[in-house]
This record gives sequence, structure tokens and C-alpha cells, in this order.
Amino acid sequence: MNKSLSKRPHILFLFSDTGGGHRSAAEAIIEALQLEYGDAITSEMVDIFLDYAPPPLNRLPSLYPTMVKLPHAWGLGYRLSNGDRRASLITGSAWPYLRRSIRRLIANHPCDMIVSVHPLANAPVLRGLGQVRPTYITVVTDLVTTHALWYHRRTDLCIVASEEAYQRAIRFGLKPGQVQIVGLPVADRFCQPPGDRQALRERFGWPQNRPLILLVGGGEGMGPLEKTAQSIAQSCPTAGLIVIAGRNQELKSRLEAMTWPVPTFIYGFVREMPDFMRAADILVTKAGPGTISEALIAGLPMILYSRLPGQEDGNVSYVVSEGAGIWAPRPEQIITTLQNWLKHPEQLSAAAAACQRLAQPQAARKIACILAEKLRITRETQHNT
Ligand code: UDP
Repeated sequence: MNKSLSKRPHILFLFSDTGGGHRSAAEAIIEALQLEYGDAITSEMVDIFLDYAPPPLNRLPSLYPTMVKLPHAWGLGYRLSNGDRRASLITGSAWPYLRRSIRRLIANHPCDMIVSVHPLANAPVLRGLGQVRPTYITVVTDLVTTHALWYHRRTDLCIVASEEAYQRAIRFGLKPGQVQIVGLPVADRFCQPPGDRQALRERFGWPQNRPLILLVGGGEGMGPLEKTAQSIAQSCPTAGLIVIAGRNQELKSRLEAMTWPVPTFIYGFVREMPDFMRAADILVTKAGPGTISEALIAGLPMILYSRLPGQEDGNVSYVVSEGAGIWAPRPEQIITTLQNWLKHPEQLSAAAAACQRLAQPQAARKIACILAEKLRITRETQHNT
């Protein structure tokens, strides 16, 4: 092997598939590293629960879609654990149970830098690493109302997406020099110039002459997607409907078995989300941070119909206060908003412009540059390897 290649710095990304956002964020940063620095830095992703946690925690990714179906219990758990001391108490009591798994993780993945995109990785991994350790960076993948567990005093740098997330970091004990506002990392495919909308619609077999409403419930097809899809189809006869059931196979099968009064296209988990967003006119979605950030870049006005209590509460005000979208938790509010936007295209255009004002398309590349700088990698390094 080329000697210089064998010395390339290695980054370990800690994530988990609890929702789609953590994986999307890690992948976006890895892609940006590749785009900016070629092969000068290597990386790998480890699912902290699936790959290392002891039972029953290793089942968290598969249990997550069920857990978030109980929003009140979820919200209560979030509130009860969301405090500096409470978070330390929880992670401290879990340590004896996690210790062996964390030590195995660290031993199996030697690296020059760890980037955590999951709040539950930070305390146990930083404790397991001890004093002599690789640089540890946290990239917070929630937008505004970020949980205390994101913020660990021993992190070398904590990257956040908003001023409020920054203020929370300080409140939870981080020093100003430890926190940087950059944005939520989004895949480069979302950040390319918009393609030809007509050509995209033709490729997907979608109608050209109808406004298209894209309905998404995060990576897991969460929230009352079925009821919402039916109300939209019945109340917006001039529109077309694209429904993304994500990894929720049961929901996808149920939707496929229905008869729809308007042209309706049902999908499971799709890779073409950037093009779907470019080809659509309005997004109806749960308030997931990834989906919101992507839609802002696509200039796609959004109606937020549900949110996970706690971590997604602030996402709603973030979008609504700037005019990029509307909060409509009841189906009739969704319909009123849709009908209003379809009748007044100038209002839809104003919301699209607000999206673009809030968009942070450079976040993944900026984060890649920060990581590379800490690893002392420059763009020239790329050419020398
Ligand atoms: N996503 C996707 N294909 C799908 C559904 C979702 O690529 O069929 C992506 C979506 O673009 C976003 C992520 O999954 O990047 C969902 O993240 P978000 O933070 O919105 O919600 P979460 O699933 O984490 O609650």
C-alpha cells in the first residue's frame, strides 16, 4: 500500500437509525469530506445501538418507530431527562451496564477523530475513552430544542444549527469556544441547482399540469399519514399526491390497496428525495429536522402536521416564524392551508422565498472543512496522496 495513504487520518462516525436524520447527517458529512478532500481522510460509520449496545438497547433502532407512536410518553421522557444533572445521573447509572460494550467499540475502531451525530453516544463514549483520546466532535442533528444529552463538557467541539441550540449548549455547561453555529448537514444532492421540473416529473411518471403535494413522515413514515393523505386527496381535486411511507411497510401496503380520487403515487423509503422535493410544489411533513432543512434548500414551502414532543417542538417555530411554512396539526387545518396556497400562488411563492432565506446548503461542506482543519488536512494534502 502507498505509504502516504496508510497514514491517512481516520474518522469514526457514531450514529444510529433511530429515525432517519442521524444517518443522513453522517452520510452528508462523509460525502462532503470526499468532495472537498478526496481520499485524504478515511471514515466509517458505526450504529452505536445495533452494533454495540447490550440487549435490550441493541433493539432500539427497531423499537424506535413504536416508541414514537406514543408521543405523550416520549415527551414526558424527554422532559424528565432534559437537564444537566438529570442527564449525568442517567448516563452515570447506565455506565456499569454499558462499560464493556463501549470499551469493545473503542478497541475495535481505532481512529484519529470521533464525530458523534447521536445524543446518546456522547457521555458513555467520552467516559470510555479516558484522558488520552482522539478529538471528539459532536454534530447536533436537532435544529432548535436540543436535548441536554447532546452537550457534554468534554467534547472538543459541538456544532449546532441555530442560535437557540447554541444558547442551550452554553446553558448546559459548554464554553463559548466549544460551540459553533454552522447548520444541519444535508446531502450534496439537495444542494445542487434545481433540475428541470418537467423532466423530473416525466421521469417519475407524475402529472405535469397539476400542483403536486409531497407527503412525508420522516424516515419511518410517522404521524397520521394515512388519514392526512385521504383528506388531501378528497379535498384538493386539482392536485396530485405523492406519499412517502418511508420504512413503514405496513402503511405502504395499506395505502397501495386504497382507491384515490386524484392521481396518487405511493412510495416506501426513497433515495430520490432531492428530486422529489424539486418536482413538488408543497411539502406536508412531520417536523423532522432533516426533512425541514432539505425542504428549505429546495425552496419547498411546508405544512408541518406533527412533531415529536421535545426535540421537534422548536422546529415548528423555526419554520413558521420566518414564513417558510405553517403549523397545521389537524387535517382540516392542512386542507385550509393547501386550498389557500393553491388559490393564491403569490403566497406560495412568498413562502418559497422564505425557505431560501433560511436554507443552509453549505453546512455539510463547512463541517467537513472544520474536521479537516482539526486533522491538519488541507486541499493540497489531497493532491499529494
Ligand atoms: N428520507 C429519505 N427517504 C425516505 C424518507 C426519508 O431519504 O423515503 C430521509 C429524509 O430526506 C431525511 C431523513 O430521511 O434526510 C429523515 O430525517 P428527519 O430528521 O426529517 O426525520 P427522522 O426520520 O429522523 O425523525
